[in-house]
Amino acid sequence: MTVKRGLLIGRMQPIHEGHLQVILKILDEVDELIIAVGSAQKSHTLDNPFTAGERILMIGQTLADEGVDPSKYYIIPIEDINTNAIWVSHVKMMTPPFSVVYSGNPLVQRLFYEENYEVEAPPLFNRTLLSGTEIRKRMINGGNWEKLVSDKTIELINAFDGINRIRHLYKKEISEL
Ligand code: NAD
Repeated sequence: MTVKRGLLIGRMQPIHEGHLQVILKILDEVDELIIAVGSAQKSHTLDNPFTAGERILMIGQTLADEGVDPSKYYIIPIEDINTNAIWVSHVKMMTPPFSVVYSGNPLVQRLFYEENYEVEAPPLFNRTLLSGTEIRKRMINGGNWEKLVSDKTIELINAFDGINRIRHLYKKEISEL
């Protein structure tokens, strides 16, 4: 039997309930899912506060808490490269073979489409609130970011001192303006 393997790539800064819902939905459609953690080299900035390793823990522990069978997915960090035209080959080099790509990001969709992959745009769940930008903004402003992520993600962000980290970076970036 051929294994139907899908790929979902995202920065997941941090993983939120929208990512989680989409991962659970895709897991119903494929035998195995590759969850690629994009921009893996980035951390300690306002847009990318968490390291790839921290994001991998947040994703893995969130899925474990949901009772997802770990043999159904791989979590693989993928660094960015400068050249979009060869990025799909770079992703392929780092991952098990896959036949379908799930992304709401137009650049990601286009690059895989041009390499003849089946590309699906998964539904967006409450995109106004369920977005990394909104969550990071709330972390800086003292808003309720906890409501938008899993309990495991809250625990891990607190263990990484993530809120102090992002607020410290915010002060630094503001003072550099
Ligand atoms: P993201 O974390 O913003 O989103 C990932 C995916 O999650 C989205 O495509 C969408 O399908 C889903 N999602 C997000 N919010 C959702 C919601 N509320 N409900 C349901 N689903 C939701 O990540 P991204 O920015 O799309 O990640 C793309 C990655 O690919 C980045 O790391 C980018 O740098 C990388 N990339 C690199 C190159 C290169 O290196 N040349 C080229 C293209 C892309």
